[in-house]
Amino acid sequence: MIMPVKSTTHPLFLESFDELSRWRQDQAATGPGKAAVGFVPTMGALHEGHLSLVHQSVKECRKTVVSIFVNPLQFGANEDLDRYPRPLDRDMAMCAEAGVDAIFHPLAREMYPHGQDLITKVVPPETLTERLCGLFRPGHFSGVATVVAKLFSLVQPQRAYFGEKDYQQLTVIHHMVRDLNLPLEVVNGATIRERDGLAMSSRNVYLTPEQRALAPVLYEVLTNIANEVRNGTKSISQSIEAGRSRLSSLPGVSLQYLEACDVDSLQPLERFTNSMVVLVAAKFGDVRLIDNVIVRA
Ligand code: AMP
Repeated sequence: MIMPVKSTTHPLFLESFDELSRWRQDQAATGPGKAAVGFVPTMGALHEGHLSLVHQSVKECRKTVVSIFVNPLQFGANEDLDRYPRPLDRDMAMCAEAGVDAIFHPLAREMYPHGQDLITKVVPPETLTERLCGLFRPGHFSGVATVVAKLFSLVQPQRAYFGEKDYQQLTVIHHMVRDLNLPLEVVNGATIRERDGLAMSSRNVYLTPEQRALAPVLYEVLTNIANEVRNGTKSISQSIEAGRSRLSSLPGVSLQYLEACDVDSLQPLERFTNSMVVLVAAKFGDVRLIDNVIVRA
């Protein structure tokens, strides 16, 4: 259900850098209480996961900007850039209902006027990107970090909201903001799930009914591992191995990784002390799904 936060107002629809910049100049830089501008970067095809970030921003900031941009720089040659869903009217209605003040919908030709190869890129440290999704999507996190840095520079938010659903991405953004001393706070939003546990994702619409029925197994495996390791009934490696064999045995499912990692460095973890994140990626037919759970003692 979409939770109305404010009565329906129509967000401004900003397409050019100029329009955004004029709007941004009108927003007071400081003031009592709330941060001036909160920002939720998205690729559109909005769902409750995105909206939970929007609701957080609307609550904590005087103005909320949502960007909708399917960023070509973060898609590999054989990935789903062209077929990525783009239901713009629906997205705008959802933003209006959620109390968003401005939608920034930049054009690729203004974002990358000289093409995607001729741009200064942000390259996150290899230790964060050489494994997990980075292993299967070379260049992806550089594409993400680059577009997010550009968007931060254009929108100039005091706070930016990112979902834990994309945990490796969230970690890359935290490190980038810290390493480059970017003047904003990154706020984490919890993963929003369907009733059966499947993490919401714009890509879930591509699942066949059979794949959709099977997909909650990812969260089931993650929560099993979280419980077994936290309760000490299995070691991390035993529990991960059991999860891997379960996922690998499923028809039509191809497991890419299932790993337990340190919550900040994303390095593999052998022993559980205070916290860990368990991350998974698997393809259901052509549809690649990712999920994770954060486990604290
Ligand atoms: P995307 O449009 O997929 O690039 O996602 C935009 C933002 O929404 C990112 O910060 C994602 O981590 C976040 N997000 C996507 N799905 C979920 C979810 N199920 N729960 C919480 N946040 C999410």
